[in-house]
Amino acid sequence: AKGLGGSRYLTYEPGMAGTVANHVQLGAELRQAIIDEQFTLLYQPIVDLAGGRLMGVEALVRWTHPGRGVIPPVEFIPLAERNGLIVPLGRWVVREACRQFAAWSAEHGAAAPAVLNLNVSARELREPGYADDVAAALADTGLSPHRLVLEVTETAVLQLGGSVTNLTRLRELGVRVALDDFGTGQSTLSLLQNCPVDELKLDQSFTQAQVTGEPTIAAAVLQLARVLGLHVVAEGVETPQQAQRLRDIGYHAAQGYHFARPLSAGQLGESLARRDDA
Ligand code: C2E
Ligand code: CA
Ligand code: CA
Ligand code: CA
Repeated sequence: AKGLGGSRYLTYEPGMAGTVANHVQLGAELRQAIIDEQFTLLYQPIVDLAGGRLMGVEALVRWTHPGRGVIPPVEFIPLAERNGLIVPLGRWVVREACRQFAAWSAEHGAAAPAVLNLNVSARELREPGYADDVAAALADTGLSPHRLVLEVTETAVLQLGGSVTNLTRLRELGVRVALDDFGTGQSTLSLLQNCPVDELKLDQSFTQAQVTGEPTIAAAVLQLARVLGLHVVAEGVETPQQAQRLRDIGYHAAQGYHFARPLSAGQLGESLARRDDA
């Protein structure tokens, strides 16, 4: 049956009707995919810029479609957010990531990543039982809440309006909150004053725009984070020059293809095992 599912979308006529039909089709398949658990998580290392040591991992979801192969999140997360399927999908992500993360800790101890970062949509945060679901996943896997970081975008936090109850409750448990893609949303500064947040993730556009010797947004964000007492991670480091520049201006933590691509659980497990031997 390989190729069947694939050609189905691609043969739709362009234009509005095609787009709607395409989304209806994809929505139905997404519903089935959740029932069948057609998802996997990749884990991208977050490293210490000084020594390259593994500090944490960010879980990134992939959909292994039976006909189309691996579908990246940009192609189904926005749809899942619109039709609400992000809620059961997010529940699976939290459970699966906590389970895997706890297994690495049990097997590799101090060599295992210390922190697990998960991406969360506004739609999930508006769900009344969200904090309870996360707390239950932590309790069931025996993970300390201090080891979990929830990544939310500025846009998502703005969409929440006043309904930050889930975030507040989780922070009371010790879970940390990071603002993802920091600097690309709107009304950033007022948001930082009112939003329950512990960490900033400098958007990759600022990581990559750095020119040696010039003042940069990256440096300004670091100052801002210091003033507010927030931790910062630079995203999207692709070259040794970018890594060096971040070190020079005082960054401690980073993520990007220069250090490691998102890895399968098996690949990350192997690299932890090599570290155990060393
Ligand atoms: P994000 O949270 O900003 O994740 C970072 C994205 O940048 C990932 O794309 C990652 O693979 C990619 N990346 C990492 N290092 C580099 C680099 O050096 N250069 C470049 N150019 N890219 C890099 P990915 O995995 O395709 O995920 C895209 C987005 O999908 C994520 O952006 C996140 O917003 C969303 N997403 C992924 N997994 C989940 C999830 O479980 N739940 C929710 N709600 N959203 C998710
Ligand atoms: Ca993220
Ligand atoms: Ca990001
Ligand atoms: Ca993003």
